[in-house]
Amino acid sequence: MENDKYSNFAELIYWSYSNLAMAHAGLERNHLKYNKYHYIIRAKLFKGLKEGTMNIRSIIDDEKIKLKTGQICNYCGSHEKLSIDHMIPRYHIKTDSAENLIYACQICNSSKGKKDLFEWMHSKNEFLPIFIIRRYIKLVYYHAEENNLLALSMQDLKKMTLPYKPEFIPISYPPPAILKLYAKNKNE
Ligand SMILES: [Zn+2]
Repeated sequence: MENDKYSNFAELIYWSYSNLAMAHAGLERNHLKYNKYHYIIRAKLFKGLKEGTMNIRSIIDDEKIKLKTGQICNYCGSHEKLSIDHMIPRYHIKTDSAENLIYACQICNSSKGKKDLFEWMHSKNEFLPIFIIRRYIKLVYYHAEENNLLALSMQDLKKMTLPYKPEFIPISYPPPAILKLYAKNKNE
């Protein structure tokens, strides 16, 4: 897998997070493709994260978005047959924090099944909304930090049973023209 090329888990997460920030910047400004400006954002953030002068932001911004979007499926925007989805399966994490909970519709829930979120995204061959990817990357990062996994190599991680699959963490994102920030209410 291509994700093997990162020196440790932290670097993989930082790279994905930096690409995500680049995608977000492009989307916010309605750019169709990435340009030099976006690559600078990505490079600066990646360098800052690696050197410890920048950090992965708290999930508070994402919580605000969750409140704003209201009761819709955070994956597809449907408002039918909603239930609570534990992004990282409940039995894997000690605290059942609200940060891990989102609304999901029955169709998305059963399509996702027991798959890791990024594994599911990969199998659908379609990117999930940026904000839901960001939330998940943060959850993975917090878990890895709490469990001292950040310094481990991808080879080490492979030998472990984790509540997520590092090999599916996205390391590149499609152009902003085909991404969306969050799932929109389908009735709007
Ligand atoms: Zn859905």
